[in-house]
Amino acid sequence: MSAEVAAHVDRDRLWDRHMRLALHGATPARGVNRQALSTEEIAARRELIEWGVALGLTPHTDPAGNLFLRLEGRDRDAPPVLSGSHLDSQPTGGKFDGVYGVLAALEAVQAIIESGRSPSRAIEVVAWMNEEGSRFAPGMMGSAAFAGAAPLAEMLPVRDVKGVSVQQALAEMRAAFPSVPERPLQRPVAAYVEAHIEQGPVLEREGFSVGVVTGIQGKRTFRVTVTGEEAHAGTARRQERKDALLAATAIIQSLANAMHDDADIVKFTVGRLEVRPNAPSVVAGQAVFSIDLRHPDESTLRALGDRVPAICASSAGPCDVGVEELVTAMPLEFPVTMRAEIAAAAARLGVRTMDLPSAAGHDSRYLHGICPSAMLFVPCKEGISHNEAESAKPEDLYDGARVLAETLAELAE
Ligand SMILES: [Zn+2]
Repeated sequence: MSAEVAAHVDRDRLWDRHMRLALHGATPARGVNRQALSTEEIAARRELIEWGVALGLTPHTDPAGNLFLRLEGRDRDAPPVLSGSHLDSQPTGGKFDGVYGVLAALEAVQAIIESGRSPSRAIEVVAWMNEEGSRFAPGMMGSAAFAGAAPLAEMLPVRDVKGVSVQQALAEMRAAFPSVPERPLQRPVAAYVEAHIEQGPVLEREGFSVGVVTGIQGKRTFRVTVTGEEAHAGTARRQERKDALLAATAIIQSLANAMHDDADIVKFTVGRLEVRPNAPSVVAGQAVFSIDLRHPDESTLRALGDRVPAICASSAGPCDVGVEELVTAMPLEFPVTMRAEIAAAAARLGVRTMDLPSAAGHDSRYLHGICPSAMLFVPCKEGISHNEAESAKPEDLYDGARVLAETLAELAE
């Protein structure tokens, strides 16, 4: 196949759509606050639907609030090829995280239409519900429910800080689009390709406009509860104290030492520490902290995570310590055949690519469980993301969309 489809990808149209979606939830610092199922996100969905319908795509949603725009295939019964990402953002997010994957997929489908091709399989542009997990925790709800990785029934009661449940927010979203029909979760899918900004510095540093993602690094999260005894800061004798905060800080330092690697591949983070009663003149009776541990290699992630309880116990001093594992997401590798599709499409276009792993989680984690999946990355400025300063170059977005268009055209044939 020649590069006839990619020739119809329009750099300025793709960029213009990013700027227009960025108006929904625009912040004074030129970022975006467009959290899942908010009025801002609903407005972005509306604009996306309008663009899709103008192209002849058919919108539909599902019980988890995922949004699909379908280009019908010649074989109406064949499972579709899906491509997209998410429209929701962090509260101080940027213009490209997630949005790029959705708009690159839309641009690719538009290029296929304009090339005069009629693909054998349907192609659906998808915006997954609540990837970020900032309004409703955890993230990636829509793709998890779609892929059957987690039951929707467990997500519906989750509430945001204002007390609004996922169920209520979904109802508000549906009410905004009364004519958009709903299709079931867990439909068969032929393949999934997600384009995304890298959210790391590698592509920019190495001078590549497109990266072929080899896989997603694994993650284990824990909650550690250190229990001591409240006491008077002025009178309690040292040997009698069970200071939960002092024990927690010793444990955290022991963990940091144990997780240290010179190559900086292990990612160890304690991002939350809650102290009770959190009063200046009371010896802390309890300290609860979080652990976020990530590594691209499964055996290393298992070994490091398995050490956590023993390290906690050995540094707890006179206090009791309990360790609870919350998330276990092992590293995954995308199929070589799917990565080769992207690399071959790029080669046809003369776009140089490099292979790299994804350090962040994406919806493709769940799609990987139900169909051959892949990701391509484009650079973002200095790797900055989840930040209002997030920035990307039109040329790089264009290259990624051209490669995606060729890849989708091939997969749908
Ligand atoms: Zn994202």
